Amino acid sequence: MRIRCPHCGERDAQEFGYLGDATKRRPDGPGASAEAMFDYVYLRNNPAGPHREFWHHGAGCRTWLVVTRDTRTHEILAVADARAAAQGDGGDGR
Ligand SMILES: [Zn+2]
Repeated sequence: MRIRCPHCGERDAQEFGYLGDATKRRPDGPGASAEAMFDYVYLRNNPAGPHREFWHHGAGCRTWLVVTRDTRTHEILAVADARAAAQGDGGDGR
């Protein structure tokens, strides 16, 4: 599998570390319910199809990325800088 880093170009997946699900959001504030925190920390879906995941380019630019990968085929559908994606501009220069 190859991942196109937005900073370094296309690289082998061995240069990257997988962190996990990029769809989870930490519940806001100290008033978050125990159920919401339990869901955030422990519960994960196991989708068959496109899924957003955090990957770290540890052997390259050391940037955190959001990779959209089809879990059935491992096809990489999109890659974005995680910081830019969190700020809402998509992180892929578009
Ligand atoms: Zn990179």
